[in-house]
Amino acid sequence: MSVEAELEESVSYTPIQRMRHSAAHVMAEAVLEIFPDAKLAIGPAIEDGFYYDFDLPRALTPGDLPEIERRMTRIIAGKYPFLQERWLREKALQYFRDRGQIYKVELIENLPDEEVGIYRQDTFLDLCRGPHVENTGHIGPFKLMRVAGAYWRGDEHRPMLQRIYGTAWFTQEELDHYLWQLDEARKRDHRTLGKSLDLYSTSEAVGPGLILGCVARNLRGMLEACNLTFLFSLDSHCKQAGDECHLLPAVSFFYAMDLTFPEHIHGFISL
Ligand SMILES: [Zn+2]
Repeated sequence: MSVEAELEESVSYTPIQRMRHSAAHVMAEAVLEIFPDAKLAIGPAIEDGFYYDFDLPRALTPGDLPEIERRMTRIIAGKYPFLQERWLREKALQYFRDRGQIYKVELIENLPDEEVGIYRQDTFLDLCRGPHVENTGHIGPFKLMRVAGAYWRGDEHRPMLQRIYGTAWFTQEELDHYLWQLDEARKRDHRTLGKSLDLYSTSEAVGPGLILGCVARNLRGMLEACNLTFLFSLDSHCKQAGDECHLLPAVSFFYAMDLTFPEHIHGFISL
């Protein structure tokens, strides 16, 4: 979906999507407090939550999320109203150009309208059609989930931005249940992934204590999709075995997969 189509979609947001998109505005305000030079792209509601894409002076880590959450909590507690304004296109272009907000400038340049929608809450102002909740106090329990890279406009030739994903719900129970469900799904995936993909086996040729993992080319991508770090290292055996067949040191593989160590691997570890 194009960025413009994504912005267009906001007008038909359901109440929970409206609340989640409002949380994205609050997250953008919090990020801008920490990084005053941050450049903002877009922040729509998505299934189960919201995101906002940022161009930042440094890479975010999971350790940055609690500080952003803390600032969001303050803004939510402030119950700041979302105030709508209509600006002439030229005024909006000038405003965002003056602040180096190149992505907003590009968005406005692609809008056909003579006037554009602006929403303010607290100290923050954004280009947006709305709608939002009445004030920031109407944003329910939320959690920031992760950071991922995302190309501007999904185009690999454009800048790589940092996307912060969050989730927000009307009640604490709903949020807790959602996080519990994710956790359960993750555990199930870990238990079944190794077996179903036939990712590991032993081989007499390389020694009975070693695990030979036949690694599909897309394994790294699948593990990343499950938020796992793939901690394998190559050694000379792999090269002999061919490109797609890597010798996996058992310890790192099973730690990465969060799997129970099979008996014969215990033997390997104790060596
Ligand atoms: Zn908005």
